[in-house]
Amino acid sequence: MRGIRVWARLLGLQRAVIEDVWIGDEGEVVVAVRPIWRERDRCGICRRRSPGFDLGDGRRRWRALDLGTTLAFVEADAPRVSCRRHGVVVCAVPWARHQARFTTAFEDQTAWLAVNTSKTAVAQLMRIAWRTVGGICQRVAAEAQREVDLLAGLRRIGIDEISHRTGQRYLTVVVCHDTGRLVWAAAGRDRKTVEAFLDALGEERCKQLELVSADMAAWVAGPITERCPQAELCLDPFHGVMLATDALDEIRREVWNEARRAGEIAVARDLKGARFALWKNPENLTARQQHKLADIQRTNARLYRAYLIKEQLRQIYRLPADAAIRLLDGWLKWARRCRLTPFIKLARTITDQRNGIIAAIQHGLSNARVEAINTQIRLITRRAFGFHSPDTLIALAMLSLADLCPPLPR
Ligand SMILES: [Zn+2]
Repeated sequence: MRGIRVWARLLGLQRAVIEDVWIGDEGEVVVAVRPIWRERDRCGICRRRSPGFDLGDGRRRWRALDLGTTLAFVEADAPRVSCRRHGVVVCAVPWARHQARFTTAFEDQTAWLAVNTSKTAVAQLMRIAWRTVGGICQRVAAEAQREVDLLAGLRRIGIDEISHRTGQRYLTVVVCHDTGRLVWAAAGRDRKTVEAFLDALGEERCKQLELVSADMAAWVAGPITERCPQAELCLDPFHGVMLATDALDEIRREVWNEARRAGEIAVARDLKGARFALWKNPENLTARQQHKLADIQRTNARLYRAYLIKEQLRQIYRLPADAAIRLLDGWLKWARRCRLTPFIKLARTITDQRNGIIAAIQHGLSNARVEAINTQIRLITRRAFGFHSPDTLIALAMLSLADLCPPLPR
């Protein structure tokens, strides 16, 4: 029987008894097995020992890792048991996850490749469809998340949204500032999604949160203030600068429309081309753009004032905390009195968020870490193109960015 044990070794089969080995009709290696006695009659979901129910659909095959150049399959009965909690369920088998058509080793290797190589490489090397890779990633990630509690001991977190599917749909992601790990992700970007995260965290652990960073979105701030009494909310000042850039652009368009209506064609044309000069950081301007900006300063006081207001807000980044806070308050005074409607509105928004922005400045905390993870998720999104559900994207992101990827089987 020594030869037969070699097959168990080759396929990484444990807690199984090899019954037979043969070459199938298409040249594949088939290894017939049964679980050892202790592993029999267990519920596929909870693995609790349960009374037998029936023989299910009879013999079944699981694809195993290739043996050299040859496809390999494990074949066994798949009887059903009647679990007290889960009802009639197909039995657990020691070599595969519940409802999988592949062995655990096969799935672990596929997940590892999905994290570490390209879409085409994993599908071609494993000889499965990309869609199948997605299903495997979900199963592997779900199992890993049952074993590791990613939400344990969270103190400082960042919450943010990322878009996928060319901006049509959103995910909400939660990142731990201390470990830099992705700890939670779900489809949607609204209050309900944040509440689902807080539900998963549980009442006790909500109270232990010390710091939550986010952009200025009210859908994050609301539930955090209500349910995490100890948490200081930090609002990313960068988001304020982005809003200031939008306000500036609104003024540029106003001025441009006025010029057009007044028939000042040359002025209108110049303004249209000035967008980048106004938008870019002054230290990065090309000579031509600097020239353009100087023109605006000469010919268009209102637009230039808007530009200066935007630029001053941006300086908040460059300054130490005390000076940055003084600058913010000075900026708010200026913006409130500037007679430029979009900036007056922005001043109102920022006044509402002032405490959160100051907290972010004091903690030296912007959403930078969250942004870094977002960039990585965007790369994964691009790679995951063709996955139809956000669940698969989330699974791949969790495997990659939450340290859940299994090692290569050995
Ligand atoms: Zn069960």
